[in-house]
Amino acid sequence: MNSVDHLTCPIHQQSLKTGLALIRYGLIRFSEAYRTARDEQFQNSCFYTMGGCGLGTRLVQQVQYCDQCRNAHLMWCQTYTSSEGLPPARTAMLGILQHGMGMQPEITITPPDLPILLANGQLVEAAKRIREANPHVDFGTILIHLNFLNRHTELDELMAQVESGVLVTLSDS
Ligand SMILES: [Zn+2]
Repeated sequence: MNSVDHLTCPIHQQSLKTGLALIRYGLIRFSEAYRTARDEQFQNSCFYTMGGCGLGTRLVQQVQYCDQCRNAHLMWCQTYTSSEGLPPARTAMLGILQHGMGMQPEITITPPDLPILLANGQLVEAAKRIREANPHVDFGTILIHLNFLNRHTELDELMAQVESGVLVTLSDS
């Protein structure tokens, strides 16, 4: 065992690259056909990474992947009309990231002075202001949404990584 083995795909004898992948939490059941194909043909496609059974707040993680494994994985899915282990399409990815950060779609109006309140850490005031603008939304939902607003820079960074292909998505069809 040496470090070169560690960084090379044993199937394709190719150096692994570094990228980002969505973390999937919970138990995910793959078909036996998929698992066999993955182990034999594309064990380093790493479009996803497993986050275990707990629920974490992190959405993506750095992974080492093999280009040829990714191609083989895509071809396998095409051949067997499957989408197992594939990344989401671009629009779906945006939804996953927004939802993962706490975006609550029922909150449709955000008061204009909200960024200043958030920057000053006046969370209670910010929550009240959102409630006034969205009277049908309960307070718990508003608090989750505040978290999303606070993570906007993070979301922008992730979208830039989707843009540049570091975080891979499929094209919307
Ligand atoms: Zn490979």
